[in-house]
Amino acid sequence: MSQTLSRPTGASPAGRSLLRRAARAAAFGAALLATLAQPAFAAGFVRDAEVEATLKRLSDPLMRAAGVAPESIEIRIFDDRLPNAFVYGGRNLVVSTGLLRDFPEPAKLQGVIAHEIGHITGGHLARRQIAMNNLRGPAMAGMLLGIAAAAAAGLAGGGASAAAGVGLGAGSQTAVQRALLSFSRAEESAADQAGITYLERAGVDPTGMEEVLEQFRGQEVFSTRHVDPYALTHPVSAERLSAIRRRAAESPARGDAPDPELVYWVQRMEAKLEGFIDTPSTVLRRLDPDDRSEFATLRRAVALHRAPDPDAAVAEADRLIQIRPNDPYYYELKGQILLESGRGVEAVTPYRRAVALAPDEPLILGYLGRALLSVGSPAADREALAALERGAARSDGGDPGLLRDLAFAYARTGQEGEAALVTAERMMLINQPIDAHRMAERAKSLLPAGSPSWLRADDIVVATKAMQQ
Ligand SMILES: [Zn+2]
Repeated sequence: MSQTLSRPTGASPAGRSLLRRAARAAAFGAALLATLAQPAFAAGFVRDAEVEATLKRLSDPLMRAAGVAPESIEIRIFDDRLPNAFVYGGRNLVVSTGLLRDFPEPAKLQGVIAHEIGHITGGHLARRQIAMNNLRGPAMAGMLLGIAAAAAAGLAGGGASAAAGVGLGAGSQTAVQRALLSFSRAEESAADQAGITYLERAGVDPTGMEEVLEQFRGQEVFSTRHVDPYALTHPVSAERLSAIRRRAAESPARGDAPDPELVYWVQRMEAKLEGFIDTPSTVLRRLDPDDRSEFATLRRAVALHRAPDPDAAVAEADRLIQIRPNDPYYYELKGQILLESGRGVEAVTPYRRAVALAPDEPLILGYLGRALLSVGSPAADREALAALERGAARSDGGDPGLLRDLAFAYARTGQEGEAALVTAERMMLINQPIDAHRMAERAKSLLPAGSPSWLRADDIVVATKAMQQ
């Protein structure tokens, strides 16, 4: 579990450090984006190996049904209580934690995801090429979500106030909204029809999609004061809903029971998100103290961790490990509790076990590396470096937190040139081309000329020079 899946609580020092990490992970480097980070939509990306794996379980069969290679699409989770989902850049699918928590059933989440895949295969995004192409993925998504939230706030307030909060000019904001947010009715219907086809091929009951849209439709009809971003990015018309109803009624997959394995992972995801998002006292108050079931234990473990009560949290994590002794994510949770409560040395053993059980999870490799760096011996530094290098190699799209630790591990093992190179790459990732340029020049001066690392540094020098012109 990544530390970024935590909403800081006012009192907890652990919470404050989590906020910093979340801000880093969100990678809001550009000044433009900084203006979006206002309280109304101060949110960040959530990185969590377990939740991401659950989303892959939900979406992979749908992507295969659509003829899309699952590894070609990156799924990202945004921490926002409002339900939302959208695609951007042709290969990024974003869902909010609010969506995951509001619809904790496989068929409903798969209905939403199938519709988004329908937008991808329909090429609906290719028509929305705008002057934001140079923004890197996370920054772009953050901007879109900020605009969606502002648009929702604007609707709630009766209109024109949204633009002021976004920090873009009112004119450009309207243009951006028009360009990005509302798909046309024809596109919405096409995405629905394609989505239902993918659901059927994957054996998923399309009634789930129908139920989700009914909820958003109801909102529009019964309340003018609150419209969720999802309903804005995907307008739910009466025609659209009745077309889905007709198709779902006749679907050969109608009434198909969900895969029990998927039900398990989706409920577990809900428990974990609740533990990390709601205030610890609220989570603990909701729980029956005698409830020793797996998901109650998970909620309790996370809430106690954030309370913070690390000893009690570790005891609950150990119970989870007893229930599922070969579950990488429960060892990861135990490691996280220890690492974040300043017991990095003790965190090494559970993280090592998590990596043994899930050897290709970049996030877990990253945290093993971080735990090892806290040991402070040359052998641990070498093991940390190996774990972090493996994590970086497997991290699709890059992970700023991991790259920071990797640079630290290189420096600790006397590889200053590599440290500078990785720092330059991290600066690129968080949209800081001037710093990236400086660090890449430094890397070139330290690395053997013409070596693969020197060439990577040179690429950054060339790219940042071009960006500055
Ligand atoms: Zn849509």
